Amino acid sequence: MPPEAAALIEVLNSRHLDSRPDLLSDPDRAAGALARAGLAPPDTGLEPEWLAVLRTARDALNDVVGESEREHQRAWATIDQVAARVGLTVRLAAGPTAQLRPVAGPGSGEAVLAEFLIRLHQAITGGSLRRLRRCANPVCDIAFYDGTRSRTQRWHSYARCGNRCNVAAYRSRARAD
Ligand SMILES: [Zn+2]
Repeated sequence: MPPEAAALIEVLNSRHLDSRPDLLSDPDRAAGALARAGLAPPDTGLEPEWLAVLRTARDALNDVVGESEREHQRAWATIDQVAARVGLTVRLAAGPTAQLRPVAGPGSGEAVLAEFLIRLHQAITGGSLRRLRRCANPVCDIAFYDGTRSRTQRWHSYARCGNRCNVAAYRSRARAD
């Protein structure tokens, strides 16, 4: 899995899942999640305003990954509004290489948002965004990277979710007969 896809999945799965609270709902929990995603140095304390902006961007990206395409336009408009608040610059070097970099200093709220947007830009241009999905098991709903050639993986883990869903579908069919 490309590193930008791994970072985006870490952010997507910071939302409220099963019985676990939203990891971006308080600065302490957020620090761990953002460090794991590689978006901030460890123990970065984000201001609540920037955490709220990050949650907005994350939730919109979740809609892009999981909802039907008619929801996408609104979700991308939301992400674009977030991007308008964030300074990015292009760094060029021999090679030739070009890299987007945050304008703000590392660990600030704006820099974390910038790092998130840089990963998203890489995932869009590199194609890995199309491989991000959400588990078809509604009680799971975890985001995962679909590495199959046909891009048709439905469950984040067949053993944990696919099997269970198939058994439930079989039982409901059997009851209906
Ligand atoms: Zn699952």
